[in-house]
Amino acid sequence: MCGIFGAWRCPKAAEMIYYGLHSVQHRATEFAGIVTSDGTNLFRQVGKGIVQDVFPNQNSLDMLHGWTGIGHIRYSTVTDDPKLDNTQPVVGVFGNREVALAHNGNLLNHQKLRDELAVHGPFKTSMDTEVILRLFCTASEPDIAKRVWAALRSVRGTYSLLFLFDDVLVAVRDPWGNRPLMLGRRGDSHFVASETVAFDNLDIAFEREIAPGEILVISKGGLQSWYFNEHEFGREPLPHPRAQCIFELLYYGHPAGTMFGQSVVDFQIRAGETLCRLCPSQSPTVVPIPDSGLFHAEGYARILPGGKLVRAILRHHYIGRTFIEPLQNLRLLKVVKKFTAVAKLLFNELVTLIDDSIVRLTTLPDIVRIVRRAGARKVEARISTPPIRFPCFYGIDTPDQKELKAAQATVEEIRVEAGLDSLAFMPMEGLRSLVPNPNDFCYACMTGEYPIEEQ
Ligand code: 5GP
Ligand code: SF4
Ligand code: MG
Repeated sequence: MCGIFGAWRCPKAAEMIYYGLHSVQHRATEFAGIVTSDGTNLFRQVGKGIVQDVFPNQNSLDMLHGWTGIGHIRYSTVTDDPKLDNTQPVVGVFGNREVALAHNGNLLNHQKLRDELAVHGPFKTSMDTEVILRLFCTASEPDIAKRVWAALRSVRGTYSLLFLFDDVLVAVRDPWGNRPLMLGRRGDSHFVASETVAFDNLDIAFEREIAPGEILVISKGGLQSWYFNEHEFGREPLPHPRAQCIFELLYYGHPAGTMFGQSVVDFQIRAGETLCRLCPSQSPTVVPIPDSGLFHAEGYARILPGGKLVRAILRHHYIGRTFIEPLQNLRLLKVVKKFTAVAKLLFNELVTLIDDSIVRLTTLPDIVRIVRRAGARKVEARISTPPIRFPCFYGIDTPDQKELKAAQATVEEIRVEAGLDSLAFMPMEGLRSLVPNPNDFCYACMTGEYPIEEQ
């Protein structure tokens, strides 16, 4: 998962991009980078770590000149070669113009394309993003929007993209709409971000979502939209099936935001309510596993007879999201350090723990242990996502089925391993009932039915 943010013609563009990336930092924490343009030249600054680490002070932003720029935060979905500069935005040259590109998503046919494109010289990174960049730079169409389409028509997979040129910003969403992308505005400046929450703190008005299959060109000539799918390109939206990632609503999206036409917090509360209706527990003390389980638990407690929401597990705030750290042994270590149970609120209680999902089952057993140690009499758990049994190839790092607990164990085995009195997951039909257009979403990591194929 990655996060992107772009600013077109805005004073202090680098600062705006810095804060924009900071607002979506929950999406990725491994690398950060910004490229700006002063209308002629591009300026690039990238590094390892969260935005604050890569840009620790004003000096680090001062060399990013200009009023237009794009930024990226990255969580690797390919194995990184430490010798390569796998940071984004990536930059390239076509004709006598420079271009920078930031990408959220994952290409399925990048290896094949990479082999074909190797005739143009070695790649600088192992990222699929560089394949899109090279396709763009080697295309022959002079018009920018057409050239973007020329680059993307052979690409299969998922992408929300930001291209930066001298004085032009281009935002693209794949025809499936798999990853979100938002358009905002302040005065004459335009902004594009992975999530609306990036606009909120910057006084940017959220205008609309970039549509699936849209190429939006922001330039001195105004905003111009083009639409494309694998076969066609034109001025009108084109029919195409959708596969918006349901996980963005369940877990990734910031609760304060709007995504795929839904309020994220409203979705998560309704998920909790539906979970309770379909899989009620007998333990009225409803305890969220923070932070991501909070609103799911809120909804659950609203429906459970006698249910009360009790925030009895607190998260230490000086440690990153555990899932984001790629090493499993480090992850285990972190989970233990991550939570504290408030014993006073748990002693002698009948507890229902609520979380949004189980992936590797690293979190839940530790939580159950500290809740029991605090004196709870009974510990049940309810999970808002159906069992995740299949890898995601669309940009989230669950590539190996061996690591997915629900692919290896039954619900009963998971219950026993976690030390629970009862355990239930959201049924698929419950999840689908949460959106008015369930066929427009991807559920492949739960069902194994992959909507987006390599060919
Ligand atoms: P587990 O502990 O089962 O390995 O991971 C599940 C926990 O990690 C949940 O609390 C969930 O909120 C969190 N989590 C962090 N990153 C991800 C992710 O990319 N996908 C999912 N499904 N859960 C994640
Ligand atoms: Fe989202 Fe799962 Fe589909 Fe991946 S497989 S895009 S995580 S719903
Ligand atoms: Mg969580």
